[in-house]
Amino acid sequence: MPDFTREREQMVERQIAGRGLSSRHLLAAMREVPRHEFVPDDLAAQAYEDSPLPIEAEQTISQPYIVALMIEAAEIAPGDRVLEIGAGSGYAAAVMSRIADRVVAIERHAELAELARSRMERLGYDNVEIVQGDGSKGWPSEAPYEAIIAAASGSHIPEVLMRQLSTGGTLVMPVGEPAAVQHLVKVRRLGEEDFEQEDLGPVRFVPLIGEHGWRDGGSGPGSAPPRSIEDQIGQAAEPLSDVDQPDFGALFDRFADARVVLLGEASHGTSEFYRARAAITKRLIAEHGFDIVAVEADWPDAAFIDRYVRHRPRREGEEAAFQRFPTWMWRNTDVDAFIRWLREHNAGCPPGAMAGFYGLDLYNLGSSMRAVIDYLEDVDPEAAKLARERYGCLQPWSRDPALYGRLAMSEGYARCEAPVLEMLRELQRKRWDYVDQDGEEWLDAAANARLVKNAEAYYRAMYHGGPESWNLRDTHMFETLCQLLEAKGPQSKAVVWAHNSHIGNAAFTEMGQIRDELNIGQLVKERFGERARLIGFGTHGGTVAAATDWDAAMEVKTVRPSLPGSYERLCHDSGVPRFLLDLREGGHEVLRESLMEPRLERFIGVIYRPETERWSHYAQAILPSQFDGWVWYDETRAVTPIGPEPREGEDETYPFGL
Ligand code: SAM
Repeated sequence: MPDFTREREQMVERQIAGRGLSSRHLLAAMREVPRHEFVPDDLAAQAYEDSPLPIEAEQTISQPYIVALMIEAAEIAPGDRVLEIGAGSGYAAAVMSRIADRVVAIERHAELAELARSRMERLGYDNVEIVQGDGSKGWPSEAPYEAIIAAASGSHIPEVLMRQLSTGGTLVMPVGEPAAVQHLVKVRRLGEEDFEQEDLGPVRFVPLIGEHGWRDGGSGPGSAPPRSIEDQIGQAAEPLSDVDQPDFGALFDRFADARVVLLGEASHGTSEFYRARAAITKRLIAEHGFDIVAVEADWPDAAFIDRYVRHRPRREGEEAAFQRFPTWMWRNTDVDAFIRWLREHNAGCPPGAMAGFYGLDLYNLGSSMRAVIDYLEDVDPEAAKLARERYGCLQPWSRDPALYGRLAMSEGYARCEAPVLEMLRELQRKRWDYVDQDGEEWLDAAANARLVKNAEAYYRAMYHGGPESWNLRDTHMFETLCQLLEAKGPQSKAVVWAHNSHIGNAAFTEMGQIRDELNIGQLVKERFGERARLIGFGTHGGTVAAATDWDAAMEVKTVRPSLPGSYERLCHDSGVPRFLLDLREGGHEVLRESLMEPRLERFIGVIYRPETERWSHYAQAILPSQFDGWVWYDETRAVTPIGPEPREGEDETYPFGL
């Protein structure tokens, strides 16, 4: 056979150097490797032409220029360890072996791998190893590599490959649908979690077929179906074990370095969400020093529970917790089990290290006013008289404060605004006199006084419509959280339980984008950045505890299967029944990108109206910006409520008795 030296020289001059590739090592290597040895015998004469050629197993040897382009882009240099995915004929691996110290090249077709191996042997290229297998997983046993080249196109760059790069290393790979024009992408690893990407322009390759590539369509290049978003979810999903297993909570350890972890729920009546949140919270408290559990419940009701879990005495004459609609939201068997655990856990801690249970919400105006007055009765009876007078303004409406809002609107001014504000100011002014007596009790009274002030404004705003009342309420919840963190000191860490609509960053949902609403999640992100982690929860179907109207009785309702096109439906179609999806930046970047297109997301509160579900319960959102993590339970059940009747054998400190 002719030695083709002249053809090879011309190929390098015209196709490679002539097109601007100039790496000295590259040009020398391409002059050295006999390309005609890498094609079937009958195509040897065409081996130096400017085109790809067919090889065995219905595959191709890439165009010389493309091989050179990828090698130069990957910056392969002497001393490097290189991985090639899609060895094919072995030609590119042979060229790279003339530059680098060692080349590992993976080929999925055994026939091609065998042929490539024998070529290397014949040519004496003993620093190349040809491996037969699925290269989409890389070859971790020899990682890290200074360069990785994939000669087949994927739907995305598999994270598992990026992680086999050394710091400073480069990966070059075509990305895009089979049978279409793809893009050659270059990734450089800048640090442990830091990667930079560059688009090198359009190319056309056979598909990468394997675990992190396309499915095998069975009929050659171009026939493999694209990897769907559902499949991507399925691949990124980390299955959840039972909540009682220790590894359940451990899966969430990745979020434990945050100061605030916010745990959502897609309804106010789903048992799985409560139980999962309880298991995560227990772990954060017991293993990671979290000492605040702040929930979307009224402050005075939660304070009742807090006294129980922190072994503090019950207040005389105090109303039992959570007597008002929607009672099942807190008076249910899952919350019951959690607060019992918390009490038991706290029993083993010194008082300063106990984890407390706090309410962020502002609806229970009557109890808050009473709590302020009761507190002052104990510490400053004169001030208590004044408080009675000032709160007397709101007292007639304490059972139904919305009526006060209506009156304020018709009167054209807020008759109780000044007295409730004055009450709060006075309590704050006298802080140091009062704190000496009992810091905890002062904190409670001040929180109640602030609640009364904000609730007064909230009920007025309700009558104006627009985003103001929602924003007042969420700002109140956020401020309460911040004050708790501040009161407990710089080491304190909080877990928040609230609905997805409160904890998923509103800036990336219809709430913020169309209705000008903000929420706790957004405010917390703005304040704490990555030291706040927002975790949403979702479900496809099952049952839920909810009412049909406000103040109506609780029912167990069937949750409709999620709508096609919604995030929920994508999760359902992933086929994984329960999982955690880590949505933090720098993780599953390709999946995050796929999920970035706004989609419908379901929100069920205390009211559920399946008949009008699309309009009353779905809104557009951008899931990966809204949350750092997404917990999925494909099928869920309604919570089991605890009735108002006293529970047998309970002592009188038990918060769910009457
Ligand atoms: N660089 C090769 C050369 O010089 O001949 C050309 C390779 S060809 C364009 C792409 C190769 O990738 C095919 O041989 C195909 O069988 C292989 N391939 C596709 N998916 C693969 C996978 N998951 N692992 C290993 N090889 C794969």
